[in-house]
Amino acid sequence: MTLLLGCIADDFTGATDLANNLVRAGMRVVQTIGVPDGPLAAEVDAVVVALKSRTIAPAEAVAQSLEALTWLQAQGARQIYFKYCSTFDSTPRGNIGPVTEALMDALGCDFTIATPAFPDNKRTVFKGYLFAGDVLLDESGMEKHPLTPMTDPNLVRVLQAQTRRKVGLIDHAVVARGAAAIGERIAALRAEGVGIAIVDAVSNEDLLRLGPALADFPLVTAGSGVAIGLAGNFGIAPSAGASALPAAGGLAAVVSGSCSLATNRQVRDFIATGRPAMAIDPLRIASGADVAAEALAWAEPLLRDGAGPVLVYSTAESGAVQSVQGRLGVDEAGAMVERTIAAVARGLVERGVRRLVVAGGETSGACVQALGIAQMQIGMQIDPGVPWCHAFAEAASGQGLHIALKSGNFGTDDFFTKAFGVLA
Ligand code: ADP
Repeated sequence: MTLLLGCIADDFTGATDLANNLVRAGMRVVQTIGVPDGPLAAEVDAVVVALKSRTIAPAEAVAQSLEALTWLQAQGARQIYFKYCSTFDSTPRGNIGPVTEALMDALGCDFTIATPAFPDNKRTVFKGYLFAGDVLLDESGMEKHPLTPMTDPNLVRVLQAQTRRKVGLIDHAVVARGAAAIGERIAALRAEGVGIAIVDAVSNEDLLRLGPALADFPLVTAGSGVAIGLAGNFGIAPSAGASALPAAGGLAAVVSGSCSLATNRQVRDFIATGRPAMAIDPLRIASGADVAAEALAWAEPLLRDGAGPVLVYSTAESGAVQSVQGRLGVDEAGAMVERTIAAVARGLVERGVRRLVVAGGETSGACVQALGIAQMQIGMQIDPGVPWCHAFAEAASGQGLHIALKSGNFGTDDFFTKAFGVLA
């Protein structure tokens, strides 16, 4: 087995985003939840190891990333890809700089690139400055992020504050001229002692021009955008086969713990079609009621009677969420609801659900853990950033299960019904 690309992602839904781009570029991809205990189960072109290392202490992020690297090297990975957020989420302490540096040291490589550019998602880099949509990063709302406030849009400065290696820039004038010009610029930067170069990219064409220049790099660091230009280096072209999953069957369900505007619309849309839906009340959970058992008792006869997908949701509008948070505390309310939805997801799968949609980033993490899923094969895209996946789940007695993990604002209004159509 030859693993071509070994990826390390600093969070869970970011890992899926990268995996989705690799599949669309024609690679067969598995995403693992953390660093696996044993060898890879399936024959694939790329693996994305999903860590939760974005905001933990830098030393811990380095340790986990190196553990992932060791595992990927043991699987024979020919190139390593460190994936972070397209808004370069980090603090002056890290973790993008420290992890990049540690991976470079471990791989014995003296040069790599860094670019969060993801034009499909309106993240572009020009003259080293990161734009989110039409505005600079520090005007995009990211300057107020609770954990990783981004107050400087200049990525050369941002990264330089996190690393001892010298940071440089490959600017758009060079990228626009193609791989040969990029290669010359890399040689010049190396001669100046630069170890990491921020790369401008404002379009997918820029990323496709960048790809060939990275063919011999032991390490690439980027958002998910650069992935679209790498498959070609391995002689891989986009194909339907890359996203092929085993045939789907079994009962269908949706669980939703996301309270985003998009998810609220999706829940309303699902209910408007007349399909069965049950709301979960966080205050009842807090009062000690076994709300997960109640939801499962409600769902069981519906599933047995073949009602089609059922929905169990805690999704609520912001006013209701704030009121619950005011009474229970933000973290306590979140953890309580996540536990309940995860227990519902597990119970549904134990009752024969084999096609499951989960809405909510944190909610997805809790569900995947409760289901006992260690690896997911990435399949066809339902909406940008959200593919169907196939996984073996402890909760399904080790049988296969199709699962889609939808983070917050992704997906069209009819996502909860459309998803099952895509699978059929
Ligand atoms: P998103 O991807 O939309 O951010 P997440 O699952 O990551 O969704 O986060 C939603 C958080 O809100 C979770 O911690 C979840 O448990 C919590 N939550 C869900 N429903 C409610 C509710 N009705 N009241 C309070 N908190 C809730």
